[in-house]
Amino acid sequence: MAKEASVKIVRERYKVNGEFSVITPNRPIFNEAKKLCGITNPRTMTYIHSYGGEAPFFEGISKGILRGTRCDNPKCESKGSIYLPFRIFCPDCLKKMKIVDLTKTAQKTAKIHTFMVCERSGAFNTLDKPIKFINIEFDGVCTILMSYLSAGEPEIGMRVAPIFRTKNPTYTITDLSWVPVGTPKSKLPKGFSF
Ligand SMILES: [Zn+2]
Repeated sequence: MAKEASVKIVRERYKVNGEFSVITPNRPIFNEAKKLCGITNPRTMTYIHSYGGEAPFFEGISKGILRGTRCDNPKCESKGSIYLPFRIFCPDCLKKMKIVDLTKTAQKTAKIHTFMVCERSGAFNTLDKPIKFINIEFDGVCTILMSYLSAGEPEIGMRVAPIFRTKNPTYTITDLSWVPVGTPKSKLPKGFSF
């Protein structure tokens, strides 16, 4: 059994431990006449996804905080623009933006801009099907956020509230989800809270 891949930070550098590429013996594929047609090639790979400057966003949703960013550069034509999804640099002046807490803005103003319901998904999907993808707009925010609805049926203009996987978070974007405003706490998926 290969040693599980893990990463530690030592003096601001990644220090890797264990096996990041694991190869499992292959198997032949024969046809009904026992003629060789091919092989399976099982292999497992651990990918290191560095969050860098976006780490505060993923850390935030694991704790029930929705963070966006705002350009505070006085020389920027778009000064004061607020972005969610979180982006590190202003697209107009390219200066580093300030991190802002948008949890309350989302609770008070989030509504469905549009939506898409998917009955099928790709490999490694972890969301329940059908997946109700929603695009969400917020007062005072100049971008639209893509996420998924965890209760009820989506409708254009529907007010929604953010929910967060604060119990056993995965530190990925699926730790953030949404429910229609007024959904009781008892209807939230396991591990999620308002
Ligand atoms: Zn700017």
